[in-house]
Amino acid sequence: MSFKSLGLSDPLLKAIEKKGYTTPSPIQEKCIPVVLQGKDVLASAQTGTGKTAGFTLPLLQILSGVQTPQKRPIRALVLTPTRELAAQILENVKEYSTFLKIKSTVIFGGVKQGPQVNTLRSGVDVLIATPGRLLDLIDQGYISLKDVEILVLDEADRMLDMGFLRDIKKVLALVPDKRQNLLFSATFSKDIKKLAGGFLNNPVLVEATPENTTAEKVNQQIYHVDKVKKRAIIIQMIKEGDWQQVLVFTRTKHGANKLCEKMVSAGITAAAIHGNKTQGARTKALAGFKAGTIRVLVATDIAARGIDIPLLPHVVNFELPNVPEDYVHRIGRTGRAGANGIAISLVSHDEVAYLKDIEKLLKQKLPSGYIEGFEQGEAPKEDPNDKKPQNHSPRKPRNKSGGSNWGKAKSNNSGGRNNNSNRRTTNK
Ligand code: AMP
Repeated sequence: MSFKSLGLSDPLLKAIEKKGYTTPSPIQEKCIPVVLQGKDVLASAQTGTGKTAGFTLPLLQILSGVQTPQKRPIRALVLTPTRELAAQILENVKEYSTFLKIKSTVIFGGVKQGPQVNTLRSGVDVLIATPGRLLDLIDQGYISLKDVEILVLDEADRMLDMGFLRDIKKVLALVPDKRQNLLFSATFSKDIKKLAGGFLNNPVLVEATPENTTAEKVNQQIYHVDKVKKRAIIIQMIKEGDWQQVLVFTRTKHGANKLCEKMVSAGITAAAIHGNKTQGARTKALAGFKAGTIRVLVATDIAARGIDIPLLPHVVNFELPNVPEDYVHRIGRTGRAGANGIAISLVSHDEVAYLKDIEKLLKQKLPSGYIEGFEQGEAPKEDPNDKKPQNHSPRKPRNKSGGSNWGKAKSNNSGGRNNNSNRRTTNK
């Protein structure tokens, strides 16, 4: 299957080529032709599946098919939960519209509205927005949605989690009745189904991965550890494994800060992103992480939503999320675009119930083990090279890629001794 056979026009094919994509991803294969036909879409897709191009490419083709009116009204509106995601979608829209006469911009809160208003004044065809700032600017009379032809709700489940349902409803009341609607969501709760039922018109269902399952290319590893030893473990993992790009999830903003401080004092470049950080700090942290100057990004679920870092090799759940769907979102950051990834979860005794919920959601038992010296109730060793008598033999982990050794992502030293460590992993 080629992008051309999906019915995309030459200027878009040229932009795709420039971007370096050769084959459409499954979601793109399914989504692009349906959107081009003008149909509503209800898509189950998480970040990492190529969903952004899945809706952006046909959207741009539809808009470019008609002569742009002199005074450009907003003809396509993309609503997203977070500023980071909004900025990334704009980046994609700009790249894909390189050879088209389409103007686009983004608006989100946390920054001054002046520059955003100025861009809007000059007229844009595509607006990407977070709900709060959008409604603000509508109230102030800077934005009209009366010419919107295509409405996209991206990461709709996240928007509901973040309490944007009322805002979404307000927006729905301001767009014309006759329009095309596209809704993307990683998970399908009752609330999402209700929302979708309320405004989608005979939608075509498009699924990238089966509902609530995790990407096959992700090697998931669970380690039962002592809560107080988690910081020491993760620092050691990163150092011994020589991991250069790790996304770590914590449950709280405070926890993210604390862990980040520990990393930095252990000599690992790290930054935290969460809701209490300014937009500037978040953008800087993300840019540093992408550029490789920051090795570890510690994030809360909300802050990490939709951030696009292709080919992320390691994701660590420092704490398990208490909402099982968030586990799916978190590990969706790794094993992307055809690359293998490792998702490690450090589970302390008080989190076992969360693990059970996750396994129930995934309908599978995750391979689990322990790290010698860091199990519940055992003191961590001072010297990782200090050999200790072993009273259990390493066994092969249940995960098929056999990568239970966290020391090296590429290593297949499954369950055995790490060259420079006395720790071993095994199945429980
Ligand atoms: P998304 O799910 O939209 O966040 O996209 C995830 C990543 O995959 C982004 O870095 C995209 O640039 C990349 N991507 C999207 N479509 C393709 C494709 N057809 N081939 C290769 N990479 C892609």
